[in-house]
Amino acid sequence: MPALTVIVDDVTGEATVEGLDPREAGALFAGVFANPLAVNCALPPRDTEVDLGASGGVGAVGGARPAPEQRAAVKEAIGRVARLYHSSVVDGPGRRSVVALQGCPIRCPGCHVPETHDQAAGTRMASGAVLDLLSAATGAPRDGVTILGGEPFAQLDMLSALVAGAKEREAHVAVYSGYALPALVRRDDPRVNAVLRQIDLLVDGPYLRDHTHGVAPYRGSANQFMRERAELDDALAGRPVRHADLARRDDDPTRRTLIVNRRPCGQRQRGGG
Ligand code: SF4
Repeated sequence: MPALTVIVDDVTGEATVEGLDPREAGALFAGVFANPLAVNCALPPRDTEVDLGASGGVGAVGGARPAPEQRAAVKEAIGRVARLYHSSVVDGPGRRSVVALQGCPIRCPGCHVPETHDQAAGTRMASGAVLDLLSAATGAPRDGVTILGGEPFAQLDMLSALVAGAKEREAHVAVYSGYALPALVRRDDPRVNAVLRQIDLLVDGPYLRDHTHGVAPYRGSANQFMRERAELDDALAGRPVRHADLARRDDDPTRRTLIVNRRPCGQRQRGGG
């Protein structure tokens, strides 16, 4: 039986429904929620997106920053950002501030955010400026920050700096990747492993059209898993984790052609009460 998930934001009173397409959700909740709005993973809720152009690009600063002696421990990086928004309840548990890094080499057919694929597009920004925006008062209250894409591991220096800086600010950090956890660990890259060692949650795997039935919360297709600390530690220690077979698809180009998207990831319906 398909699962239906309703997430209520107790700050705004908005309800986000997962597990139905927008038409079904509109019919089911007619008369309960006014003005339903279709949203999707990696797309911001209305009125919460930060204007990165106005933020000043690379050197932008603002919001509370750690003391200089704390900041010295975190290496700064420059990267390309597709968008940044607050108050998301669909990109990991709770209310989250989200940064989408620009550029994705995976190119799942039918991806709902193709504008994030071009690695030369987006706004060039310093990691410190991004961290300032993620922790800005305008996004409060928040339960954590989420880094997604695009493909975050395609900008490894930027990802490393954002994860280290967010952990320095004691944030709960979730990362979405189109690469499955076993594929990331097989890279045997110290920077990848350092990211996996610090984050609180990895939502991993490519978006697979044939696995969208019964998809669980915060994911676009059923092959994706929420890997919390214990599972990340298992993977880093070489212990078995779930889903090793499908994980191989994303690093084998000859099998990547098996991946076909039929609908945008995680169709969701959102309405103000
Ligand atoms: S990994 Fe994510 S951003 Fe990249 S193509 Fe697939 S769904 Fe789109």
